[in-house]
Amino acid sequence: MSLQDKINKWVRPGIRKLSAYHVPPAAGLIKLDAMENPWPWPAALQAEWLQVLQAAALNRYPDPTAAELQSVLRTAMEVPDDARVMLGNGSDELIQMIVQTIAEPGRVIMAPEPTFVMYRQIATVCGLAFSGVPLDEDFSLDHERMLALIAERQPAVIFLAYPNNPTGNLFDANIIREMLAVADGLVVVDEAYAPFTDASFMSSLGEYDNLLVMRTVSKLGLAGLRLGMLAGSPDWLEQIDKTRLPYNVGTLNQLTGSFALRHKALFDEQARAIRAEREILFAGLREFAGLAVYPSEANFILFRVPAGRAGELYAGLQSAGILIKNLHGSADALRDCLRVTVGLPDENRAFLAALERLL
Ligand SMILES: *Cc1c(COP(=O)(O)O)cnc(C)c1O
Repeated sequence: MSLQDKINKWVRPGIRKLSAYHVPPAAGLIKLDAMENPWPWPAALQAEWLQVLQAAALNRYPDPTAAELQSVLRTAMEVPDDARVMLGNGSDELIQMIVQTIAEPGRVIMAPEPTFVMYRQIATVCGLAFSGVPLDEDFSLDHERMLALIAERQPAVIFLAYPNNPTGNLFDANIIREMLAVADGLVVVDEAYAPFTDASFMSSLGEYDNLLVMRTVSKLGLAGLRLGMLAGSPDWLEQIDKTRLPYNVGTLNQLTGSFALRHKALFDEQARAIRAEREILFAGLREFAGLAVYPSEANFILFRVPAGRAGELYAGLQSAGILIKNLHGSADALRDCLRVTVGLPDENRAFLAALERLL
């Protein structure tokens, strides 16, 4: 049997059809593609952090519950006292654990689309059906359709990115509350962009027994760490925690996470600066004729360019040394769309200047 035949025989058809999550090389470019915080740590903080790491006992397994880090995160993320939390190697791993907990043939995972691609990807990898419900033209939830499909398809889990990626907007909180009331499956509100908005469902955890709130430190400024947090009812989390591999958050991550979040004021300050820069970038994009620029509550901005020009503008920016994200071709609703992450003031200006030349 040829290698290809062996692969065709044994790899699940759902996996063969998938394409791996692609990350383009960014070396030497101004990196405005991945919603990273562009601000570095002050040198003194960096030095203090290295001191902390020196004390790490790497011959030992990590604290399996990451108790210290959990406690610091609860405070930093304002988790209600009666909620339980669990940690993941990034919130991507938490999405995987949630889906594995309910994975059984015939079950459905639902999310409005376009949205964060990992919901669909992980559902597919786990062999589940994924029901993507198209957002309205302005990327708001299609109220009627969403509620009707929940009743019809009885999803085991609904994922809601709040604010949504890649569109940047917040869904209507009242519609989310209606969904929480009619669904008996889990509703996971993914608050990856919490640092850049005032809206949150964290304080509503006690009101709904099927609500889980997910956070990450990635967009806050610790994307390299890989650390996500899930908060919700202890009864649900007790079950989900059974799918977690032991020691999924390593010693270096635990020490670094605890250290960094004890200096949360620094990250809050950086988030405020990013929000202010977002408004400058938004106003700058709005000045260009022919662009549709979508309001954002996150650290990126989605914009639609004149028909047929997304590829050329993306490539032109890359030649000018600037990497953003081209979403054209990923979904009908994102036709001619590009997404730019808010960078340092100089980087944002370089981006606007380069785009102006290309337009
Ligand atoms: C970036 C992003 C994540 C991924 O977070 P990690 O903690 O880095 O895995 C999750 N959800 C949404 C909506 C995101 O945009």
